[in-house]
Amino acid sequence: MSLLLEAERYVANQSSHLALNAFITPLPRRSSRWQDQVKHADLRRAQGKQKSRLDGRLIAFKDNICTRDLPTTCASKTLETFTSPFNATVVQQLEDAGAIVAGKTNLDEFGMGSHSIHSRFGPVKSAHCGRDSDNLSAGGSSGGSAVAVATDQCYAALGTDTGGSVRLPAAYTGIVGFKPSYGLLSRWGVVAYANSLDTVGIMAKETSTVRDVFGILNQYDSRDPTSHPPSSRSRISHRLKSTPLRIGVPLEYNISELAPSVRRSWYRSLEYMRQQGHTIQLVSLPMTKSALSAYYILAPAEASSNLAKYDGVRYGTRFEGRDGDGDNKSEGYLYAKTRGEGFGSEVKRRIMLGAFSLSAQAIDNYFIQAQRIRRLVRHDFDAVFRAENPLTAHALDIEHQAREVGVDVLICPTAPSPPPRISELTNANATKSSLDAYVSDVFTVPASLAGLPAISVPVSGRENVYSHDDEDLAGIQIIGQYGDDDLVLNVGELLQGNGL
Ligand code: GLN
Repeated sequence: MSLLLEAERYVANQSSHLALNAFITPLPRRSSRWQDQVKHADLRRAQGKQKSRLDGRLIAFKDNICTRDLPTTCASKTLETFTSPFNATVVQQLEDAGAIVAGKTNLDEFGMGSHSIHSRFGPVKSAHCGRDSDNLSAGGSSGGSAVAVATDQCYAALGTDTGGSVRLPAAYTGIVGFKPSYGLLSRWGVVAYANSLDTVGIMAKETSTVRDVFGILNQYDSRDPTSHPPSSRSRISHRLKSTPLRIGVPLEYNISELAPSVRRSWYRSLEYMRQQGHTIQLVSLPMTKSALSAYYILAPAEASSNLAKYDGVRYGTRFEGRDGDGDNKSEGYLYAKTRGEGFGSEVKRRIMLGAFSLSAQAIDNYFIQAQRIRRLVRHDFDAVFRAENPLTAHALDIEHQAREVGVDVLICPTAPSPPPRISELTNANATKSSLDAYVSDVFTVPASLAGLPAISVPVSGRENVYSHDDEDLAGIQIIGQYGDDDLVLNVGELLQGNGL
């Protein structure tokens, strides 16, 4: 199929799937701009001069990633009219490789949420429906990118993953979502939510496509202070891996609340790996239980300071009021009005939580403790992996001992249960609260706190692959040691490519 035909099909799907609300800014159907770009790529392909494997492919971007040609709203009222004067590095890298921006996708405001329902532009809807034909949650916060990929509105998509926002939507919509090791992909031009956790992630139907995109984005960027320079990149990659692999199964993820369909998919994945000659080994990550609470202290704390700049003076839509910042009750003041009207309720909740845990009376019991837990979570992982963490190479003795029996990757579910129905989340008498939404991140935040690479791939829980319906699909997560991104992709490909 020509690239033009493929692109036209994606853009046509964008129009026919408007009701799913995956895009905030879709591609204009009859624009000569993208059509010309794709035609040029077709020409290059015919002459064997393709710029890359992504030349002429349509890639969608979550709307918190800056694009020069399209607005960047973060699904927030405060940025409704904002268009960036520059491309984020990741956008530029893909454009240089010949890819074309397929539009900007819907998300939870500033990336805060797990179901893509906290958007100024309304909730994203998964194409899958529950029993009473209610749409299911697409997961969040990169739900728009996930649905765009799942329903063929683009070739691949970028999202961001701070605590699971690429992996959870991938699991809920039956696609592949990859969060690379922290510090490999540039964050320059990506609107910050919680800098120490924010990672650009890649979503596609096939793991091989994810690998192609990763190959282009995995470069040092001097404009991102947390991007690894070439010297440390050479240290963290090219570690030899022996096969067969040792697969770790973290005991703490086997919680009683695990949905039966999720448990079946998990068992099938492990059974498959065992049949392939790999060894399965139980491991313990004792801090798993505390990771979620630590995340929901650290992420809002960073968010509260990041979002301070949207005050109507420096950034953000200005809602006019009197001078001065006033106090909590002074609604007539510029700051209070701007922030009161510019942000949605979930963002306000996070700002308040964050400001509280950083306050003088709370910091010792909240922020400092959460930082401690974060260190212990990282230590948990270092203790079970065979490879040592290249960032903390001065390994302790105890870790050395563990290494002799250590594992190469961990395999566990991405989420404890299948996607809830949107009506359960948004109705006036909604049965699910914010806290329930936080709980869906329980299996994704540990890898985020430790900065580790993790991928979610769809696996059916049914033996007979021809009989499975949507309800049998679950996201299975593969977590690797820091820098083992290629290994994580390989195992993802193995699981996904075998009719599981
Ligand atoms: N659901 C998590 C949160 O709301 C993760 C979000 C994300 O990874 N951007 O913070």
